[in-house]
Amino acid sequence: MATGNINVTAENIFPVIKKFLYSDHEIFLRELISNATDATLKLKHLATLGEVKGDIGDPIIEIKVDKKKNEIRIIDQGVGMTGEEVEKYINQVAFSGAEEFVEKYKDKVEDSGIIGHFGLGFYSSFMVADKVEIFTKSFKKDAKAVRWECDGSPKYTLEEFDRKERGTEIVLHIDEESKDFLEDAKITELLTKYNKFMPIPIKFGTREETLPLPEDAKEGTEPEKITIENIVNNPTPAWTKNPKDLKDEDYKSFYRELYPMQFEEPLFNIHLNVDYPFNLTGILYFPKLNNNLDPTKDRIQLYQNQVFVTDNVEGIVPPFLQMLRGVIDSPDIPLNVSRSYLQSDAAVKKISSYITRKVADKLTSLFKKDRKAFEEKWDDIKVIIEYGMLSEDKFFEKSDKFAIYPTVNKEYFTWNELEEKIKPVQTDKDDKLVILYASDVKKQHSYIDVAKEKGYTVLLLDSPIVSHLLQKLETSKEKIQFVRVDSDHVDNLIKKEETKISKLSDEEKEKLKPIIEEIIPKETYTVQMEAMDSNANPFIITQPEFMRRMKEMQATGGGGMMGMGNFPDMYNLVINTNNELVGEILNTKTKKKQDRLIQQAFDLAKLSQGLLQGEELTNFIKRSFQMVK
Ligand code: ADP
Ligand code: MG
Repeated sequence: MATGNINVTAENIFPVIKKFLYSDHEIFLRELISNATDATLKLKHLATLGEVKGDIGDPIIEIKVDKKKNEIRIIDQGVGMTGEEVEKYINQVAFSGAEEFVEKYKDKVEDSGIIGHFGLGFYSSFMVADKVEIFTKSFKKDAKAVRWECDGSPKYTLEEFDRKERGTEIVLHIDEESKDFLEDAKITELLTKYNKFMPIPIKFGTREETLPLPEDAKEGTEPEKITIENIVNNPTPAWTKNPKDLKDEDYKSFYRELYPMQFEEPLFNIHLNVDYPFNLTGILYFPKLNNNLDPTKDRIQLYQNQVFVTDNVEGIVPPFLQMLRGVIDSPDIPLNVSRSYLQSDAAVKKISSYITRKVADKLTSLFKKDRKAFEEKWDDIKVIIEYGMLSEDKFFEKSDKFAIYPTVNKEYFTWNELEEKIKPVQTDKDDKLVILYASDVKKQHSYIDVAKEKGYTVLLLDSPIVSHLLQKLETSKEKIQFVRVDSDHVDNLIKKEETKISKLSDEEKEKLKPIIEEIIPKETYTVQMEAMDSNANPFIITQPEFMRRMKEMQATGGGGMMGMGNFPDMYNLVINTNNELVGEILNTKTKKKQDRLIQQAFDLAKLSQGLLQGEELTNFIKRSFQMVK
């Protein structure tokens, strides 16, 4: 038997380790299972090279909990270690790794967003144990089994002992504060969280399975129950397979495996697979976005070689894609660094832009392959796509290939198709293409109607960030402008050369304007006299595009528009000087009757915009009843 001192500079490093990773104690299990997995994969690899004698069988990893003895055991059938290897890899290498880690990060606890996820390896066992033993026997010919023990001080014990089986058994003597980890439910929770897709089968206890009844079973026969090993993981998850071998159903069932509490099916998936210039595999899913979407739930999961790391992929995936679901597995993402560092890391930047490109390519091919199906999904995916177009220039550049613009009649156009279609009718006198849109088919019904009568195409753009997107499109495409149908009277939406003749003379107009202005609240409404079709409504309320859009953009988080928030809503009251009623108002002799007509026409205009509420609405109804008496 040998005893010795682990090569330490700091007198006792374990308390530091414990304190440092206080909130993340649970990762000890993941670290030890990772080591067991590495050892098993090494063995398998050596076996394929013919360097291991005999049949290695189907090695598994086993977790055992003994609540009475306060012990957790992690047992593998991997390569094992010789006494020398324990000296080298546990006493020196592993320890120096842990020491280096603590040295580097002890001042940066507040920045530990991702640091907590990795780094300590074997020594993380001291976060939950006051004594750790290793029993191990190397696969190497004539290797002697050894037992190592350490109680968290720099002193360790190393001795030979008798053991026939190849592999390593780690025994954790769980300390007083960590007894929670001795609960089966806790271990199951951790195994599900971190080890669900690890490549070597992990056994934790047994479970009962009910066998299906044989076909010729007599009525009332009890189905047979058998006890089987409880394997907690799926060692070959879908993302590790070749896309060619997977059917749509396989992707869907993997989605259910990944998010067992998620009952909605994904819309489609994107299989990621690169090995140069970095290694990355994964499957991303476009979920159906609905109102009860919880962005903290069912997020994209990040793995390293099938070991779960985190479900916070901030910095690795651009923000708009964080709304997707699925898995990313890459050994090339540096994890023991802070998030701010991550965002500036060149490899990570490449990964981020690769993923963005893949998503754009997939959308393009889905659109090409089955346009109808794509159009049907549009409402569910548009927010992600529009957000992407706004925030990632690379994505925006490609978006003409798959972004579609629906009309109020549910036709869908690509950008090019739209331009082609509306050019002949919706080009204004300055040769600018005016694109009309509505945000609410019901509320803007009358405006949509008159625009359609003119032969105009009206888009339906109703997602919350649309005002930002329009701004972006206007600045990146040439000579176009978006105008909402209710932002002016129809003849002014797209200004053409022709001018309409007004029934009222300029003099009459000048006489009428102040009479109207006296009745309506001037702070909110600007009166505008316009010669329109005689059958167009006499009073029309419009909301100028620019102000409204700025307000909307600010409401949905637009930068650089501070101070706009206090602006009140401003409207135009357009008076149709060709409508008969307007002439009548002008010629009404009794002042009282004239005022009442103006008020009534104004209220009707407000009503059609949904602006008539409360006391005003009550008064309007009273007045209307009196008028029909
Ligand atoms: P890392 O896994 O990053 O190398 P660890 O601290 O987790 O660091 O482990 C240190 C070393 O100890 C491993 O590289 C390996 O050589 C050895 N080791 C740990 N656990 C096992 C095991 N179960 N079987 C064989 N070797 C092991
Ligand atoms: Mg390790």
